[in-house]
Amino acid sequence: MLNEIIYRIGVMKRNPSMNACYKELKKTEFASREELDKLQNERLQELMVFCYQNSSYYRNIFLAQKVNPIESVFKVSDLRFLPILDKKTLIKENESIHTIKNYNFKKLFFSETSGSTGEALTFYKDERWDSYNRASINRGLSWFNVNPWDRNGYFWGFDFNFFKQFKIKFFDMLVNRFRLFSYSDKELSVFLKKCRKAKYLEGYSSMIYEVAKLANKNGIKIDNLSLIKGTSEKIYPYYHKETIKAFGCKIVSEYGAAESGIIAFECPEGQMHLNEETAIVEVVDGRVIVTNLIARSFPTIRYDLGDFVELSEEKCSCGREHKVLKEVTGRVGSNILGENSTFYPSLTLYYVFKNIALQHGIELAYRCEQKVLGQLDVYIEHDMTKKLVKILDNEFKKYFNGNVSCNYYSTQSVRVKGKKLKDFVSFI
Ligand SMILES: [Zn+2]
Repeated sequence: MLNEIIYRIGVMKRNPSMNACYKELKKTEFASREELDKLQNERLQELMVFCYQNSSYYRNIFLAQKVNPIESVFKVSDLRFLPILDKKTLIKENESIHTIKNYNFKKLFFSETSGSTGEALTFYKDERWDSYNRASINRGLSWFNVNPWDRNGYFWGFDFNFFKQFKIKFFDMLVNRFRLFSYSDKELSVFLKKCRKAKYLEGYSSMIYEVAKLANKNGIKIDNLSLIKGTSEKIYPYYHKETIKAFGCKIVSEYGAAESGIIAFECPEGQMHLNEETAIVEVVDGRVIVTNLIARSFPTIRYDLGDFVELSEEKCSCGREHKVLKEVTGRVGSNILGENSTFYPSLTLYYVFKNIALQHGIELAYRCEQKVLGQLDVYIEHDMTKKLVKILDNEFKKYFNGNVSCNYYSTQSVRVKGKKLKDFVSFI
């Protein structure tokens, strides 16, 4: 009760429009396909008019493409005539994309994303955009009968000094949250004890997996959770076996990005539904292209998020008509370099290990690094038997054609402590 009151006061102060956004989202939760299409077309038209009037970057693009949303209707199907935006453009054209000089927003939040490419992107988020994003997360939580103020355990990076920890613990208390600060036996047992009174867990899925493994090793079982939510990292299918054993639930996926907001949220039937009220998702050459329908202070129309995804045509048995994101297969851009100037997208790894799982029934936790041209270091959470090496060699050969030689290392955990798990890192 007290936690709900604290939560509601916090929302009132920080995100005054959030309750209205949440109600809107709940209204269309089971909307028909036609209703969702209509809503997307209407919201896109509003966005286009706003950008035309307030963003010099988009105005120039529209003029070049002879698009005038004030005079004629612009539909979702017309989006394909507009150019695709990438992160470099968001950084370079930052000021002209922003609308904050032309439109008077009541409240803005500063946002910064570092990303894997190194260069930081900064932008201002208007209050309604931030509210819609939070409300979208809360709608997802509601599918699992979880309230945002319910007691929750949090997994995130943990390079904090004492003072920072103290500060974090104070704010965690306000939002009814506790977190793991290290993997020490003592910390872990305190954390797991707290889990017994929690409603849900959230954070890096590789960390949740790590803790589930440790809990299983120590014979600890927790059966009171309603939800485990994995964010910002790929969730591998083998994670679920450990988390179901330790915590009684699989990891549910939330997919999104700071620029685009929540893009998809997994339903209780295990399908990731697109958040179609706030985003239009297109797939171009396998890449996910997102138009944020809500953002006004820093609009992103047809933004290439840098992920490869697959959409599914299947209808979900939960009754929601929102389109289904089948899988986020990998990051765009990082290449494995072979001899003879050959290169292979890091997505290759996804197929290699997927094939091994399908053909040999071995699900491997892996991480790969490249430090030398033509060589790949492969770390695997499995005993390195001769048989396994042969399977790996055969599979890699199919893709690399002998241009990349692999070194295999058996490891307790493929995770680099305190860091986000990436399946491939290049040091070249
Ligand atoms: Zn569903």
